Amino acid sequence: MSVLVTGGAGYIGSHMVLELLDAGEDVVVLDDLSTGFRWAVPPQVPLVIGDFGDENLVKDAIARYGVTEIVHFAAKIVVPESVARPLLYYSNNTAKARTLLETATSAGIERFIFSSTAAVYGDPVQNPVTEDEPPKPMSPYGRSKLMVEWMLEDVSKASNLKYVALRYFNVAGGDPAGRAGQSTPNATHLIKVAVQTALGLRPKMQLFGIDYPTHDGSCVRDYIQVTDLARAHMDALAHLRGGGQSLVCNAGYAKGFSVIDVIETVKRVSGRDFHVEVSERRPGDPAAIVAGNDLIKSALGWRPQHDDLEEIVRQALRWEQNLAERVSGNAGLDGIKTGAPG
Ligand code: UDP
Repeated sequence: MSVLVTGGAGYIGSHMVLELLDAGEDVVVLDDLSTGFRWAVPPQVPLVIGDFGDENLVKDAIARYGVTEIVHFAAKIVVPESVARPLLYYSNNTAKARTLLETATSAGIERFIFSSTAAVYGDPVQNPVTEDEPPKPMSPYGRSKLMVEWMLEDVSKASNLKYVALRYFNVAGGDPAGRAGQSTPNATHLIKVAVQTALGLRPKMQLFGIDYPTHDGSCVRDYIQVTDLARAHMDALAHLRGGGQSLVCNAGYAKGFSVIDVIETVKRVSGRDFHVEVSERRPGDPAAIVAGNDLIKSALGWRPQHDDLEEIVRQALRWEQNLAERVSGNAGLDGIKTGAPG
């Protein structure tokens, strides 16, 4: 009995692998290493390098490693890129997920955890947004994920497969013990960009829009620490193993911070001032989105342990420093040595 983690060499997936190992579970990772890193997979974990949409590869991995559950992280996740290249997102996130579901159900997999996104809500009418708000994604990224939620709903009615889809809000930070973190050099996510700027890895950063209807004019988001998010997946697995019903849940803290709040926190925690250039609004950005989290707490028993923006920023800073040292020390880590962040 083992858990297949697609995208296990990536940011959230690698933290999930650590949670599973810490809980004594058998894990196998499937990753094409397009954005993940081989070194992010602990050596005792089998790594199958390839595409989650490759039916034969996945079928073989399920049989070979005795896979009974799938946690599906692998995806394209950059909203502006999805606006520019929608078919890439529909192919990778939607069409290949359809194939994965077909492979999974044919192989008798009964439990499936899916990385969905707050982007399915678009610009919600009210915050915190709850799961009963009708989804209205504003980007191909959000749509590409929502279609998978719909497939899961239908497939679960027509087969023995049960699922939990977690709608992630803004994931940030790193493993509290410093074993993992966000490693993509050109990541576009706010905390990563701000931390890289504080460390001098970027000369300046942009603040996209200060004319939103929020307390200070910049966009408001709900930043969830990555280990807390990984633990939500552990809770989801336990829920399904205990015979629980399929569910779609928000994963966030029900607390919003503006872009300016985040930048000020990074400046305060790092002790460094840096140049922030105010720019136009970025396409596809809702003004504010904050998670209602009553459902995940009541249905999955999820309890956040790292709900603290300063702690999240400290983890991100520590990990970024660690990465920068690996690059300058030329530790031979594939992916990192290919270029300075930014
Ligand atoms: N943002 C910003 N500068 C950056 C990166 C992001 O002002 O360099 C803003 C972005 O416009 C949004 C918020 O920060 O309002 C969060 O963006 P991010 O890309 O981190 O996550 P998203 O909410 O798009 O998933």
